[in-house]
Amino acid sequence: MSVMDAAGVVFDVSFPVVVVGGGAAGLIAALAAREAQAEVLVLERDAVPSGSTALSAGLIPAGGTRWQREAGISDSPALAASDIQDKAEDQADPALVRLVTEAVGPALEWLADRHGLPFSVIDNFRYPGHSAYRMHGLPSRSGAELMDALREAASAAGAEILCEARVVALFRDGDRVAGVEIERPDGSRERIGCGALVLACNGYGGNPALVRAHIPELADALYFGHPGNQGDAILWGEALGAATRHLSGHQGHGSVAHPHGILITWATITEGGFQVNAEGRRFSDESHGYSEQAANVLRQPGGLAWTIFDGRIAKIARQFEDFRQAEAQGAVIVADDARSLARRLGLPEADFAATVEEVSALKRDGRTDCFGRHFAGTSQLEGPLHAVKVTGALFHTQGGLMVDGDARVTRPDGSALPNLFAAGGAACGVSGPHPSGYLSGNGLLTAVALGRIAGRSAASL
Ligand SMILES: Cc1cc2nc3c(=O)[nH]c(=O)nc-3n(C[C@H](O)[C@H](O)[C@H](O)COP(=O)(O)OP(=O)(O)OC[C@H]3O[C@@H](n4cnc5c(N)ncnc54)[C@H](O)[C@@H]3O)c2cc1C
Repeated sequence: MSVMDAAGVVFDVSFPVVVVGGGAAGLIAALAAREAQAEVLVLERDAVPSGSTALSAGLIPAGGTRWQREAGISDSPALAASDIQDKAEDQADPALVRLVTEAVGPALEWLADRHGLPFSVIDNFRYPGHSAYRMHGLPSRSGAELMDALREAASAAGAEILCEARVVALFRDGDRVAGVEIERPDGSRERIGCGALVLACNGYGGNPALVRAHIPELADALYFGHPGNQGDAILWGEALGAATRHLSGHQGHGSVAHPHGILITWATITEGGFQVNAEGRRFSDESHGYSEQAANVLRQPGGLAWTIFDGRIAKIARQFEDFRQAEAQGAVIVADDARSLARRLGLPEADFAATVEEVSALKRDGRTDCFGRHFAGTSQLEGPLHAVKVTGALFHTQGGLMVDGDARVTRPDGSALPNLFAAGGAACGVSGPHPSGYLSGNGLLTAVALGRIAGRSAASL
């Protein structure tokens, strides 16, 4: 990913605002730029913009929205900020946390009022670490629906979206970005000038070399995000002298059905399930969180584990489409008792049965186990027992380019590059440097909030 000198370069066409990447961050930046009357061009490498956004549940955390007020939910940006910092152990940049938690609610209301996205708040499931019901989504609760709605809105607002246009290089004129070079599927190249450039091409989860460098514990993990997210923003930013932070931060997941590659909801664990390895033994405090559990699972023999739960929990999990698909594909194994389940899974019978008995005793006696897990508030598992063979996966990275309050990319000394902006996974997020710092929704939070700020700021140039 190169950055070249713009001297002597002739651009085929120029736009005041160019956005690299047509996921949630890019399309929202385009909407905000259009609202400020700027001509905007979104460059997207795929034939249809989808990104990791379309793979996600499309759920966006916001505190103090009108949907919450209508549902009688008491919440605020400050409470959301405090939950984020609790999870990140105060390692997220407080100014950035404040910026995005204050911006995201108004951004959702703007998307609803101005662009017709029918958000509502999820008020029957509180995400771990959220002090209030604050996840907002479109009716199907899917990222695909969010992307469809954003694509339609951006087109209706007059944003140009050029697909099959992979940005392969940036041109610099001193400190300014003068334009970009794109490559088309037939290998031809075009040069496009810009007044301002918004990097919305997410993080580096799809780039094995960068994952190995920054998150070695997940070097061999299944990547569950969009493969086109190759870390281009970080590489260009670094070449331009920008600061990056928390590149080791990420969202992992310790319960992805293997070999089916289907997400098994973490409710299987929070409702009282647990995980064993190929020896039929538990290996961790699963209740810490799904993100950090990815590396724990990958450390087990074969990088595999089995998530164990019961029929009651399966019923809760069945509200998620992914789980229903896992069942349809035969990923969920059911047996009447521990020994017959062990036989079906190929686990050592006696050891697995002892583990099931031990968990039952921990629940009955209210004891904390040797890993530090307390099963308080969870019921005993009732037969038949259910199991899914799982592995650990990387969902998306959370480190990235540092930005200021206008979403302008900054240098290590805090000064801003004059016309370069970053949003979504391209920018450093609010999860800190560890996987345990990821609070549900942190991904789309910065895509929506920084996307709008970046588009508005870029248009103002
Ligand atoms: C399975 C899964 C579930 C998730 N669930 C949630 C959730 O419920 N809530 C939440 O907050 N977060 C969730 N996330 C995280 C969330 O999806 C991301 O944080 C968010 O989508 C990032 O948005 P983005 O616009 O920055 O990136 P993307 O949506 O990935 O968009 C980036 C776009 O840039 C394009 N691109 C990349 N490089 C180039 C280039 N050189 N030239 C042109 N185009 C380029 C890509 O093709 C892509 O379309 C989930 C992630 C996964 C994988």
